Amino acid sequence: MCGIVAYVGPRDAYPILMKGLHRLEYRGYDSAGICLLNHDIRVFKCKGKVSDLEEYLVGKDISGTIGMAHTRWATHGEPNQINAHPHFSQNKKVAIIHNGIIENYSVLRSELKKRGFHFTSETDTEVLVHLIEDIMTNEKVPVEEAVRIALNQVVGAYAIVILAKDYPDKIIAARKGSPMVIGIGKDEFFVASDATPLVEYTDNVVYMNDEEIAIIERKAKLKIKTIRNKDHTPYIQKLVMSLNEIEKGGFDHFMLKEIYEQPRSIRDSMRGRLHIDQGIVTLGGIQNYEQKLINAKRIIITACGTSWHAGLVGGYLIEDLARIPVEVEYSSEFRYRNPVISEEDVILAISQSGETADTLAAIELGKAKGATVLGICNVVGSSIARATHGGVYTHAGPEIGVASTKAFTAQVAVLTLLSLLLAEKKGTIPKSQFQKILLALNAIPEKVDRILKMSEKIRDIANIYKDVKNSIYLGRGYNFPVALEGALKLKEISYIHAEGYPAAEMKHGPIALIDEHMPVVFIATRRGIYNKVISNIEEVKARKGKIIAIVTEGDETVKKLADHYIEIPDTEEILVPLLATIPLQLLSYYIAVMRGCNVDQPRNLAKSVTVE
Ligand code: GLU
Repeated sequence: MCGIVAYVGPRDAYPILMKGLHRLEYRGYDSAGICLLNHDIRVFKCKGKVSDLEEYLVGKDISGTIGMAHTRWATHGEPNQINAHPHFSQNKKVAIIHNGIIENYSVLRSELKKRGFHFTSETDTEVLVHLIEDIMTNEKVPVEEAVRIALNQVVGAYAIVILAKDYPDKIIAARKGSPMVIGIGKDEFFVASDATPLVEYTDNVVYMNDEEIAIIERKAKLKIKTIRNKDHTPYIQKLVMSLNEIEKGGFDHFMLKEIYEQPRSIRDSMRGRLHIDQGIVTLGGIQNYEQKLINAKRIIITACGTSWHAGLVGGYLIEDLARIPVEVEYSSEFRYRNPVISEEDVILAISQSGETADTLAAIELGKAKGATVLGICNVVGSSIARATHGGVYTHAGPEIGVASTKAFTAQVAVLTLLSLLLAEKKGTIPKSQFQKILLALNAIPEKVDRILKMSEKIRDIANIYKDVKNSIYLGRGYNFPVALEGALKLKEISYIHAEGYPAAEMKHGPIALIDEHMPVVFIATRRGIYNKVISNIEEVKARKGKIIAIVTEGDETVKKLADHYIEIPDTEEILVPLLATIPLQLLSYYIAVMRGCNVDQPRNLAKSVTVE
């Protein structure tokens, strides 16, 4: 994880770097640091958030038109000031910021120690900067060449930026496995982990590829070469992102803004794909792979976290509608467990950021075994978008809140379109049913809007349960992944222990936890296995559990059984996850706010998990 930003140009670097760090803070917030360069090279860093760094910098010399800054999500060494980035080399002439993990750091560290280097931090990062100094001194090469040689000795993932005292007009950046984008302005350059820090300055960007090194010189051209010393011509693209999209726009938190954006983000993810007038679905990014999908022996969905929950919904949808066998895998397990993959398999990788390290590794594994690999991700130009054969963007817009909301519903919307497309092509559902679902899908954004209008009621329920220690979420069929996602949302932002289970599985263990203090959230909508869920509710009620039910509008049975209920509009059974998730997002949000938690930046988490 970690956020990286750097600048060189005619302006003061400090305000640009600080604003950039604030935008990247979703990537990690254990510590923050900055390095500025003019006649000397200065590093300032502290534990905590970017705002703590700003306070710490009051009265310090923050001048300079070249600099770099970092916000950390610790992997090696506790989150304290010493381990914060930037890290200096021993002679204090070279400084580094790093996102990723140097896997062979301990071997490199012992070698460097033997050569007289002293380590001040516990990070893996520090070895790299000492190694660069060692190469500069012994080989008498310029800093960019030393970086290149050093990177050839490194195993692991990195996005790094290097500044060196003796090269006061130069930024060296490199990546492998962690994202890095370069913004090109008039006489100025920006480097960042994603495009948000540079959006107001330029729309000309270069997304760096793995094993590339960028040599950026003030007033000169950008030069890119590989770590094997081959020149690459930078491929300049137009950035499509606006400032509005990455600001809070009057909401208290990004998460709330993103929850409320869902009518639009779901609509955007279907725009130009769901053609209601012609009664068809098209997905341009996978057009060339439609036959592969239709003839696939099996589809393997691989993802992590919330995207894995979307994948579960996708698995139900594809099997249900298109009758293709689906397996849904955690990327972190899949990549290491020697799975059986054949050329007739299609792998579908899902990730909001498009940078999830385990999912990227799963993609590479699938490709190596000859499978067709398609992606569903939200960030245009991200590593997953580039590593896959084809794919579909979710178009949810930038998601800043660390707990994923609108990206989940956009992923589910895209998976729904995909399964409908396959079902139609394969002829596995009647035409009339296909058309009926298209119309129902088209009506989803408006129904989400109606649910959002019930926030007062959801807030009242949150107020009653905000102090509980445990909770259970139960659902069946399409509502089982919804239960998992609801529980994950609550635990990640409010730190209340929450378990999601298939409702019937409750009897095989979790029922032992039920007493008068245990809130149980039932997703008990009228479609699907409704009557069985009612029996499950009765079972909880008999043990005095408190029942919060998500019910279909007009339902009287569950309403009578529940202590509290939230009504959602009726829709086709397969589309219920797109609606039932919304009140659960709001419930978690309000509970977390009432508990005084930092909703947008929950403890120990970071937004895009670029380390395995
Ligand atoms: N491994 C580095 C550290 O712990 C960078 C962490 C990261 O990018 O997540 O400081």
